[in-house]
Amino acid sequence: MKRVLLLTTGGTIASRQTRQGLSPDINCRDIIQMLPVSQDNFTIDSRDIFNLDSSNVQPEEWQSIAEVIAEALPDYDGIIITHGTDTMAYTASALSYMLQNLNKPVVLTGAQIPIEHMFTDAKMNLQVAFAAVNMGISGVMIAFDGKIINGCRSVKVRTLGFDAFESISAPYWGEVYADGIHIANNITRVLERKSFELKKSLCPDVFLLKLIPGTNPDIFDWLEQKNYRGVVIEAFGMGGTHFERRNLTAKLKNLIANNVSVVVCSQCLYEKSDLSLYEVGRRLLECGVIPGRDMTTEAIVTKLMWALGQTQDPAAVRRIFDTNYVGEVTL
Ligand code: ASP
Repeated sequence: MKRVLLLTTGGTIASRQTRQGLSPDINCRDIIQMLPVSQDNFTIDSRDIFNLDSSNVQPEEWQSIAEVIAEALPDYDGIIITHGTDTMAYTASALSYMLQNLNKPVVLTGAQIPIEHMFTDAKMNLQVAFAAVNMGISGVMIAFDGKIINGCRSVKVRTLGFDAFESISAPYWGEVYADGIHIANNITRVLERKSFELKKSLCPDVFLLKLIPGTNPDIFDWLEQKNYRGVVIEAFGMGGTHFERRNLTAKLKNLIANNVSVVVCSQCLYEKSDLSLYEVGRRLLECGVIPGRDMTTEAIVTKLMWALGQTQDPAAVRRIFDTNYVGEVTL
C-alpha cells in the first residue's frame, strides 16, 4: 500500500462562492472526505499549507511548499498538492529546480470547477494524481484532465476548458485511456544518482518583458534603475528584436554589462527559439543574452529566479542555463 501525503494550497478546487466571488475556503479534511480513491489502496495523510487563490502564490509560497515536501519526503511514496490552476505551471517549474535530485513523485493538481460542485473535474484530476503516484516516476508533475505532464513543460493554455494544461515541446509523461495509463517510453530525465537536496534560495528580482513592435529601449534603463537582477525577454518568432529606429540592442548591451542576466525566448508557445538564424536574433546574441531554446516562459522565469538565488556570478547563471536539470530544455 502506497503512502501519500495530500497537501492543499487553495485554488478553485478548494473554493466556495462568496460575496467577493469564488474564494478558497475548503480545507484538506473536507477534500479527504470527497476523495475519489479508495483508502484501502493508499494510506493518506493530509495537511493544509495555505489557502490562496494561486494569483496570490509567489516565490515565498513556493519556498514554503518546497520546505514541507522536503521534510515529508522520507515518510511517503509520493506527494500530491492541490493548487490553483492559474499559476500552477510556475509553482511546478519552481519546485522542479528547488527539489534537486528528487527521487519520488510530487504531483500537482487542481480543478476548473470547485470540488463541491456537481460537475467538478476535481475528482477525475485527483484520480489521475493518485495514478501518477502509482506510476512511481520521480519528479515534479502536473496531473490534469487525464494527462500527466512534466511540471517544467506545463503551461496553462485555457481559461475554461477542462484540458487547461498542455505539455509544451515535450511528450506527455502519461495519458489516461480506457485500458489504463499510457506511459511515455522516453521520459526525458537526467538520471544522475545523486541524493535529494533542497535548494530553496530564490531571487524574485526578475522581470518578464514581452516585446511589441515599437518597444521603447528606455525600458532597459528603467529595469537597471529598479535593480532587477534578471530579465526574460519574449522576443519575436525565432527570437528577434527590432534595431531600426528604436534600437533595443544598445541599451540591452549596457544592462548586461551591468551584470543583469538576460534570457531570450520566443513569444510562440510551441517549438524552439534559435537566435542564430536571423540577423535580428544574432544582434541579441552579440549583446550577451542567454538563449532560452525550447523552454517555456514559466520554466525560464523560475529557472532564472532559482539561478540568481544560487549565485551572484552571471557566468554561473549562464552555466545553469546550459544545464538540463529535469527535462526543461533540449540542449
Ligand atoms: N483563480 C484560480 C486559482 O488559480 C483558478 C483555478 O484554480 O482554476 O487559484
